[in-house]
Amino acid sequence: MRAVQTVKQIRESLNLPRKSSQAIGLVPTMGALHAGHVKLIETAKNECGFVVVSIFVNPLQFGPSEDYAKYPTALPADLEICRRNGADLVFAPSVDEMYPVPQLTLTDVSRVSEHLCGASRPGHFRGVATVVLKLFNIVQPDRAYFGEKDLQQLAVIRRMVRDLNVPVEIVGVPTVRESDGLALSSRNRYLNPEQRKVAPALYRALEEASKHVRAGERDAAIVREAGLRVLHQEPSIQVEYIEIVDPEEMQPVVRIDRPIRIAGAIWIGSTRLIDNLSA
Ligand code: AMP
Repeated sequence: MRAVQTVKQIRESLNLPRKSSQAIGLVPTMGALHAGHVKLIETAKNECGFVVVSIFVNPLQFGPSEDYAKYPTALPADLEICRRNGADLVFAPSVDEMYPVPQLTLTDVSRVSEHLCGASRPGHFRGVATVVLKLFNIVQPDRAYFGEKDLQQLAVIRRMVRDLNVPVEIVGVPTVRESDGLALSSRNRYLNPEQRKVAPALYRALEEASKHVRAGERDAAIVREAGLRVLHQEPSIQVEYIEIVDPEEMQPVVRIDRPIRIAGAIWIGSTRLIDNLSA
């Protein structure tokens, strides 16, 4: 496995696999890799002859008061995880390599970015879509792998690729969870032991809401309330949102008359956690 830092190096490293017609899979990450990322790498490895993992904490997708400066980094451990799980190439560029001049061309996937995390993180999905489109142009993969944990991100990328005729197949990978339901996230590292204990309430809340849908409830407000009740039992949790949305455009629904997604975001202290379930 090679690890490279520059666009020139990665393009050169991809000449051979491209010549030999191997399918190229890309797994974009921000590093601090965990078993959720590993699942993406494994899925890519099963479907592609050559797997590229990118590791880049993208400043463009963080707001001014967000955790860019303290986002966990662990490059040596990340490289080892990539190597052990069959990645062929790691692309870990610097900020200057990705943004040598101010980025004036930005990718806005309107509407899909409007609600859920988009409402509280203005510009976040513009930053995500822009960096992912850059990575697609740098790597030119056949397929790219994204976690369903970041539901709205996946919807934004799917729509961007569709709207802009980007020749990359987007593959969604189911969320990997701890045994108590907590979705794995690099940000779980911020939680102290007490906070870690209450964190699975988000999953339980989504489960409770989804149980109401399975039992036949069609009123989204009632389903949402069922989820909120679980979260309100934990005084250390601040709820940012629980929403019932359609799976393509992430628009809130009123009546549940087709498959939907239940998404939530909470704060525990200064740590923000998100999760979602289908129903
Ligand atoms: P990140 O490094 O947090 O930007 O995540 C990189 C990719 O890993 C994204 O496509 C995430 O959706 C995905 N991912 C993060 N956590 C999980 C998880 N628990 N299960 C599956 N995929 C995940």
